[in-house]
Amino acid sequence: MLSSTLNPVLRALIARFDVDCGLDGSLLLNSLKDFLGGNVDLCENCSRLSRNIAKPFYNLGMRAFRIKKDFLQRQFLSAEYSEAWLKGFGLMMKGIRKYGVRVPFTPAGPFEIVWNFTYTCNLRCKHCYEDAGKKRPELSTEQALEVIDVLSRTAGVGLPALSFSGGEPLMRKDFFEVAAYAKKKIPYISIATNGTLLSKDNVERLKDVGVDYVEVSLDGATAKVHEEFRQVLGCFEKTMQGIRNSLDAGLDTCIATTVQRLNLDEVEKVVSIAEELGVRFMHFNYIPTGRAKSFVELDLTPDERLRVLELLGRKIFDLYLRAKEEEQRFGKSSVVVDRFFSTCPQYASVVKRIVKEHGERFAVSAHYATKRGVENVANFLGGCGGGRLYMCLEPNGDMKPCVFFATGKHTVLGNILKDNFERVWDTHPFLWKMRSRENLETYNVGGRIVGCGNCKDKYICGGCRARAFSYFNGDVDAPDVGCIDNEALWEKIVKSVT
Ligand code: SF4
Ligand code: SF4
Repeated sequence: MLSSTLNPVLRALIARFDVDCGLDGSLLLNSLKDFLGGNVDLCENCSRLSRNIAKPFYNLGMRAFRIKKDFLQRQFLSAEYSEAWLKGFGLMMKGIRKYGVRVPFTPAGPFEIVWNFTYTCNLRCKHCYEDAGKKRPELSTEQALEVIDVLSRTAGVGLPALSFSGGEPLMRKDFFEVAAYAKKKIPYISIATNGTLLSKDNVERLKDVGVDYVEVSLDGATAKVHEEFRQVLGCFEKTMQGIRNSLDAGLDTCIATTVQRLNLDEVEKVVSIAEELGVRFMHFNYIPTGRAKSFVELDLTPDERLRVLELLGRKIFDLYLRAKEEEQRFGKSSVVVDRFFSTCPQYASVVKRIVKEHGERFAVSAHYATKRGVENVANFLGGCGGGRLYMCLEPNGDMKPCVFFATGKHTVLGNILKDNFERVWDTHPFLWKMRSRENLETYNVGGRIVGCGNCKDKYICGGCRARAFSYFNGDVDAPDVGCIDNEALWEKIVKSVT
């Protein structure tokens, strides 16, 4: 943990170059481009601040996190989504300026927002956190565009990434209009869909508006298993066709599976489908919230979840080893490592154990991203990112820390069109509770102390706070009983409620 004396120095230093110049715009972003050798033309004052204050600061930061300059040059100057990375960097620096360096880290605004764009849906999935299908008031098109404007100004930097979810986002007739507007103001746009409406026409329209990533839910390798869970006959073939259409249109596509007891035996087959199609695989953690609260018995045991995470962990680690070997032999590699992910924060902990057995340096951090040899960054990013790296918007504009929290008086932080987003982000007590790992609880089960508060991996994982909230009736600091390390508590508590 950084000393309380270092933080004031860092904050004061950043404040010196976190300025908006009338001539050049944000010096925070421009100074990074300048440091990395990007093409920026700065006025005399900005140039001096960039050279004398920002540059030494970046040099120190790179050394502290053992990050190479050519990596930063690729990410911030030439990568496909360098604009999103730059905004993320701006939020990170402003986060240090506002709150100091914390472990895990809190930026000045979320890197990503998942917007449940509608309560409507054409399926009736058992896991639906939104309990979609019930009619409730939603924002109008005009209000939705206003939301995009608010997001594009987040913390004076702007949101890096926005994901449309639901319900089924393609059920709203104005989806393409709002997504096109979003793409003009937010660099990375994605959609999470059940895939049934991914007709050839619709995937072309997604492409035309510039959607960067399409995540399609597939909950079984067969119609029987997928449809039993999704509760609509005939939806399996439509979803499979939607995946194929998305791929044929050249869209970056991912298969996402909510793993639960009905499809546990088919997980490997679904992973194989993803591998054969050459798309990413995302494991969604089953959280008993929304409609899933009525199907709590579908939740996996800690041991079952561990086996799923080990399956994915071994696969991503194999890819890492293959990439490493190719790099050693040929100087570069074409192996894409970022293929197998989980929304389950224990993924970081499980991969860490696998990697340790092989004496390697590789980390999965914030349960979405892989990191080569930068474990420090994993601690910093800190596993569960709800209300910290990411947050959720409801179809009526209500803000929540994560889609997996039940909607209620403790979890609704305000409304994006009625309340000041920045003030909510800076001050809401529920968010600050979620951002700290120091208050995570422990339990004594038969003389054994368990719980995330007692765990050595609490900074890279932290447990799913939404799962804790659900199983412990609103206690967001409670243990994640889905974790193998908390199995004793699972046995004691969960078995008593099922
Ligand atoms: S005990 Fe909690 S923090 Fe530790 S690995 Fe398990 S879920 Fe994560
Ligand atoms: S609460 Fe945290 S770990 Fe759980 S789904 Fe949300 S962001 Fe992920």
